[in-house]
Amino acid sequence: MAASKINLDGLLIFEQPFARVPYENYRKVFRTTQKNIERELGHLSDLQSTAGSPTLNVMRERCKHLSFIEDIQGPIGSEYARWVDTRLDRWIVDWVLRHGREQTARHIARERGIEELVDIDLFMDIRRIEDALGSHSCTEALAWCGENKNALKKLKSTLEFDLRLQEYIELARDRRTADAIAYARKHLIPWQETHLMQIQQASALLAFPPTTTCNPYKRLYDPIRWLNLIQSFRLAIFSLNTLPSEPLLHLALYGGLSSLKLPTCYDPEIKNHDCPVCDPWLGKLGEEVPFSHHVNSTIVCRLSGKIMDEDNAPMAFPNGYVYSREALEEMSAQNEGKVKCPRTQEECDISKLKKVFIS
Ligand SMILES: [Zn+2]
Repeated sequence: MAASKINLDGLLIFEQPFARVPYENYRKVFRTTQKNIERELGHLSDLQSTAGSPTLNVMRERCKHLSFIEDIQGPIGSEYARWVDTRLDRWIVDWVLRHGREQTARHIARERGIEELVDIDLFMDIRRIEDALGSHSCTEALAWCGENKNALKKLKSTLEFDLRLQEYIELARDRRTADAIAYARKHLIPWQETHLMQIQQASALLAFPPTTTCNPYKRLYDPIRWLNLIQSFRLAIFSLNTLPSEPLLHLALYGGLSSLKLPTCYDPEIKNHDCPVCDPWLGKLGEEVPFSHHVNSTIVCRLSGKIMDEDNAPMAFPNGYVYSREALEEMSAQNEGKVKCPRTQEECDISKLKKVFIS
């Protein structure tokens, strides 16, 4: 199978898997997605904090892009190809943004004219807030929580409490007991209905120094909490913007890989070197996806990669291994009538091979 590859920032993409998914399925998926997005847009419009925001504009543009597929008559033609290219560009920009390469993302988006379809501004915000959390400051993240209070409440997110608790822990770490108590009264007590246990633990924390080996206080002082906060923030901002936690490109590739994955994949002895699932890069993504469902099996020659059928019958070596007649005849023509099994290196005369019948 010939797969087209694009190499960009070390990113490898096979487009071929998508070609196997019937066009009608795409239309179905798009219609559902479009409906979902329109519903989400309705929700977002309700929220004053996000109304007229760049995020909303991006979503509107994406809806327009999705609805465009409705008017395209079939999967053949330049219009559809252009639409598919735009979608792939959008996935690539999303992937690049999630890997912290804003410059590259900006460059691709400008070059491909899709700046309105991608979340560059959103990811700039994410970067700014995550950097602040990385240098142990909750200020930026708390300001973001304030701006999105209602939406976070709807999501039942506890990010704001986790950030407040962290600020409290830092006061306790600095042994500023009076400040910590005042902080807890103002910012933790309002959460007592849902977080009473954690507030009680936080109160007791003041009796333990940061060097304590006693849990749960040791865990509260653990700096790893800052990394967890970054992750929680990212999840919250993704949910708020209806972005999946995994790159869009990966989600699309899962679909393609599951349509190709066979029980023989990953086995170095029998894998097909043209198979994207057997490719070490893409195979990593394919590990979790289900096997493809094949009503009829096709037998492919390991030597030539061609399908074996009545016109190109499978021929068995005395050792039982099977290859296509075409490939073996070609081999024998170059080797004075002798053929060699590539797996066992066993050599014999082509006349010794037996034709195999598939029933
Ligand atoms: Zn494979």
